[in-house]
Amino acid sequence: MKSYRFKALLQNQGWLENATVSLDEAGKISALSQKENSDSIYIDGYALAGFQNAHSHAFQYAMAGLAERHSGAQEADDFWSWREAMYGLALNINPEQMKTIAAMLYAELLRHGWTNVAEFHYVHHDKNGKPYDNLAAMDEALIEAAKDAGIKITLIPIFYQKGGFGQQPNERQRRFISPTFNDYLKLFEASKQVCRQYEGANIAVGIHSMRGVDCSDILRIATEAPQNVPLHIHISEQLKEVEDALAFLGKRPVEWLLDNIELNERFHLVHATHLTDDETERLAKTQANVVLCPSTEGNLGDGIFPLKNYQSFGGKWSIGTDSHVGLNPLEELRILDYGQRLITHKRNTFTDDKTEDSGLYAITKATVAGRKAMNNFESDFFAVGASFDACIISADAPLLANTKLENLSSSIIYSTDASHIYGTFVAGKLIRKDGKYQQIKENFIDLMKQFR
Ligand SMILES: [Zn+2]
Repeated sequence: MKSYRFKALLQNQGWLENATVSLDEAGKISALSQKENSDSIYIDGYALAGFQNAHSHAFQYAMAGLAERHSGAQEADDFWSWREAMYGLALNINPEQMKTIAAMLYAELLRHGWTNVAEFHYVHHDKNGKPYDNLAAMDEALIEAAKDAGIKITLIPIFYQKGGFGQQPNERQRRFISPTFNDYLKLFEASKQVCRQYEGANIAVGIHSMRGVDCSDILRIATEAPQNVPLHIHISEQLKEVEDALAFLGKRPVEWLLDNIELNERFHLVHATHLTDDETERLAKTQANVVLCPSTEGNLGDGIFPLKNYQSFGGKWSIGTDSHVGLNPLEELRILDYGQRLITHKRNTFTDDKTEDSGLYAITKATVAGRKAMNNFESDFFAVGASFDACIISADAPLLANTKLENLSSSIIYSTDASHIYGTFVAGKLIRKDGKYQQIKENFIDLMKQFR
């Protein structure tokens, strides 16, 4: 049995100084107190609950920074032209390459303090669009990558069926497509089997988007696919998508979901950028969650989610890094906050009647809803009996060494960067940038000769 002592550890009510965490063989917390334990290993750091990355497309990490040459001011360069560049990559990778890219991404996510990732996975078939003999070959690559890096993963095999509202899929989407609900269920079952290969893996269901799946099948996924797992869906990210939904369904995407499906805390709506006031209020009241991906949404020119308004109705949200153009959870929270400050001309994004500490508020929201995205309903940051998953911030960082506890959460969120992260604990195991990281990095750099 191991135990660690930290300069302080963040609980939901605030910081616990000189916290000793004892762990059992499985890496679960067996005791948590301020009592000194002579056997414990001291780490001069502040322990936060591990960050939950609720939205990832691992392969897109390989193209971060490669879609930034913009020709001619007249030519439209937007989400849809970026998507063409992304398809170019998606059409060319094999499972082995997927594993190499994902392992690098996951090692980097750990280095930035994330302990869990929800992988929204839709590149299912071979380069010709034919299912692999092992239906879940790509899933297996992702699970092996997560295991190699040491991150916990929630694998979300995605149902992708259409090329747009009422349209057949286009040729460039051939690797993504499950023609029918039953085809998707087969894929889901194969993915579920693969998750059994790694104790840090679990499964969720996913729908690419309202434009990607026929409405009748969206209803079936919501009511007939497994109900005891989270359900993730991209929604209302782009104005064109809202316009197309209005033209085809006579309703906006979120409006259609609200009118047709009994949303609850099992649902994770990714982006939900474009909402009317009515949709915002109704969505918040369902207890469904929104997954915000601030650096990607900014990079793609999506728009700004009405967070202040959503929170005023009790709306739940988490964060993700989506295309991985940014990987730092602290930065994601800052971009999210500053977008709101810029449009409201106020500074109090992350507060409510009960909390005046922005840092603590942001960490709480992102952690609690982020865990639900992984099918984890534990709301205490560190609970006896729960797996010890933590992000450790070095306590000797210049701005943190003498910060009063009441200012510590916000000092971490607003003033630190990835260089201040000491390491990450996943299931009680300390992960730092070590030899394994170097091996993953060498493999990745070698592969990137072909792609970058
Ligand atoms: Zn996405």
